[in-house]
Amino acid sequence: MLDSKPRLLDTDFPLIKRRRLSTVQVNLGYRCNQSCVHCHVDAGPKRREEMTSATMEQVLGFVERSGTSTLDITGGAPELNAVFRPLVERARALGVQVLDRCNLTILTEPGQQDLAEFLAQNRVDIIASLPCYLDENVDGQRGKGVFEASIRGLRRLNALGYGADDVDATGLRLDLVYNPIDAVLPPPQGALETDYKRELAVRHGVRFNRLLTLANMPVRRFGGWLLSTGRFDDYMQLLRQAHREENLDAVMCRDLISIDWQGYVYDCDFNQMLGLTLGATGGHRPHVSELTDAATLTGADIRVANHCYGCTAGQGSSCGGALA
Ligand code: SF4
Ligand code: SF4
Repeated sequence: MLDSKPRLLDTDFPLIKRRRLSTVQVNLGYRCNQSCVHCHVDAGPKRREEMTSATMEQVLGFVERSGTSTLDITGGAPELNAVFRPLVERARALGVQVLDRCNLTILTEPGQQDLAEFLAQNRVDIIASLPCYLDENVDGQRGKGVFEASIRGLRRLNALGYGADDVDATGLRLDLVYNPIDAVLPPPQGALETDYKRELAVRHGVRFNRLLTLANMPVRRFGGWLLSTGRFDDYMQLLRQAHREENLDAVMCRDLISIDWQGYVYDCDFNQMLGLTLGATGGHRPHVSELTDAATLTGADIRVANHCYGCTAGQGSSCGGALA
């Protein structure tokens, strides 16, 4: 696979600094039951990287001493990791909000039949990928049969109360994530959410809370695909031309750090995939066990590169969807 990293490092992206930390995002490893074309993690069934319980304890230790309010769990398919369930239960016992970045098909995989119930019992917020409401588009990007399995997963979540309008009452939030099928920017989030809600309800009887639109990042598998198809420069130009200065205020790295499966710390998940160390450290690769509290990260420089234009393009993308 061609590597886009050397094309990203020489950048004129503006300098940004971290505010007070509110979210710890933790990547439990790169094993996944899918192998999507756009995957910025290069995850798949053959990946073996997985967080150990010792590292999980170090992550929880930092969550507790930093007073972080949200733990955002990602992968791969994070639910495949043995520490996933203990991590969720321990974080919830600390009163921390937990987000699971779920690919939906994992809910119907062998051995995961009770996963949906586990998530509901622990009041875990679910952020689930579904790049279209049409089956041929989803299967084209994420693999044959993925759409049908995703709908089955959504129905299971709906049956448990996920996706109902009154999230404050149920505590069961279900948000969907849209990313474009091709090397284009996502359409406006509000209009697309209306379409998704109508089409998924009418065609499949499925409901959800919010649709988050994210641009594909030119890193790892998607970056390699752009390079191998000769579209890298055009896509970077598209992102740059769509850059909006006001989106700098809300990119996710302003309030978040990202921890990898070995416990090393980065400014965000994309930087983690590129191996770009925390901006404030001048090349040292900090480990979560070295972080004393959240205050030491406040006001620190964030390590930026050209892929950051993927966060500020158009409406702007963050892990919470469009920014503007
Ligand atoms: S995009 Fe998500 S579901 Fe697809 S391979 Fe990557 S981690 Fe797995
Ligand atoms: S890729 Fe986005 S979240 Fe990561 S450092 Fe750049 S602007 Fe921040």
